[in-house]
Amino acid sequence: MPLVSMRQLLDEAAAGGYGVGAFNVNNMEQIQAVFEAAQETRSPVIVQASRGARSYTNDRFLIHLMTAAVELYPDVPVSLHQDHGNSPETCLSAIDQGFTSVMMEGSLMDDGKTPSDFEYNVAVTREVVEKAHAKGVTVEGELGTLGGIEDGVGSGEVHLTDPDQAVEFVERTGIDALAVAIGTSHGAYKFTKPPDGEVLAMHLIQQIHERLPDTHLVMHGSSSVPQDLVEKINRFGGKIAPTWGVPVEEIQLGIRHGVRKINVDTDARLAMTSAIREVFVEHPEEFDPRSYLKPAREAMKAVYKQRMEQFGQAGHAGDYEPLTLEQMRERYAAVAA
Ligand SMILES: [Zn+2]
Repeated sequence: MPLVSMRQLLDEAAAGGYGVGAFNVNNMEQIQAVFEAAQETRSPVIVQASRGARSYTNDRFLIHLMTAAVELYPDVPVSLHQDHGNSPETCLSAIDQGFTSVMMEGSLMDDGKTPSDFEYNVAVTREVVEKAHAKGVTVEGELGTLGGIEDGVGSGEVHLTDPDQAVEFVERTGIDALAVAIGTSHGAYKFTKPPDGEVLAMHLIQQIHERLPDTHLVMHGSSSVPQDLVEKINRFGGKIAPTWGVPVEEIQLGIRHGVRKINVDTDARLAMTSAIREVFVEHPEEFDPRSYLKPAREAMKAVYKQRMEQFGQAGHAGDYEPLTLEQMRERYAAVAA
């Protein structure tokens, strides 16, 4: 099947009461691992690329790799999403390339670092919604800012999402999904101890969901940072300082309160690095890249499969017929009329 609208994936997830993992990719092995995991668990899935990933792969490599994957795994409903679009131009260029969903990160200025004001955020997000929906493409907006910096994105400051402002933001922009800031952060160094209710403002998710029951909520920075992977990296010569991610139980609590898209990047990075380090240390005579990229791909696939089971998307690939982007365009036009 062709790339699917993310809106439809999330609508179906809401109807089915589950979440969908959105996994960042930068290369062929990651894409293969995501699709293998989705096929084996019969999961719909979101593949996402940051601006950094688009420049690392070159858009054309990325799109053709995704096209190959879609051909080879026809039973997997998948959306291709622009993660952290810093400007309307970035989002529109992603749509031109064939992405079926974009995030307009208007909570930051287009340098991806400086916090913006609310009116700026509304204006740029609204602009992207008008242009994206005219092509049937989904839009994720963001209110509030996360901590941490990844791929050059982030102000380093944390501003939690205000539930009342979230209602105004969704009404004025018409977005399909809202990324909320609840105290998570990007990258591997999220928390210096296992996070509790003090650090992670899960109650905000409940409040926002009560006010906006039809808006799909998105959790960024939601890697769980498995301790065994950190330990394995360090055992084979790595130097990862003690760190904790977002516990899966907290994500599952979020899913019960309207979280439909869960962004996971770091966990796959850790899996890949741990597998490669192990081969380098255990088999220093090896120099065929396949000797370490194959185990790296297997290690990522294991993480993806586990998340797909935990988020509940497993088993739902065959639940529905994907709509075309043209059908989505008509749906948006009918709602707007
Ligand atoms: Zn993010």
